[in-house]
Amino acid sequence: MKFLRVLWFIFLGSPLLALKLIIEPTESGVRGTRVFKPLAIYAELFEKTKECSGLRGSMDGITWLAIPGTETFNTKNGPKVGMWEEASGKFTVTLAGKYIDHEMVVRHEMLHHLLRRVGHPSEYFQKCKLTWETWQKN
Ligand SMILES: [Zn+2]
Repeated sequence: MKFLRVLWFIFLGSPLLALKLIIEPTESGVRGTRVFKPLAIYAELFEKTKECSGLRGSMDGITWLAIPGTETFNTKNGPKVGMWEEASGKFTVTLAGKYIDHEMVVRHEMLHHLLRRVGHPSEYFQKCKLTWETWQKN
């Protein structure tokens, strides 16, 4: 869709506007993101996250963004591998491309979504072991 809009501006002879659309960051403020379809495993990861937290919710409203090929991305709070955001009732999860199938990173953002908040209350993040310090692969 964005590509078509860009073409449309070029067609109308406004290359500066077209350029603006190309270089403009996404709503998340992170550059280079692409929307992707939640991976098949996400349904299971979401169930696990609901289970350990005792929270209810749906991940249907999440727009998933990734920056292909990256290990971190820059935010106003420093480099990150994942970020959950709410803006005007819309939910976005942004992930560094190399972490889109990383269970802890994906579930960490899912837990933010279930809680509908940023920040890391320990009764949830510690309990579910969804931080780098508490995460153990098994
Ligand atoms: Zn977090």
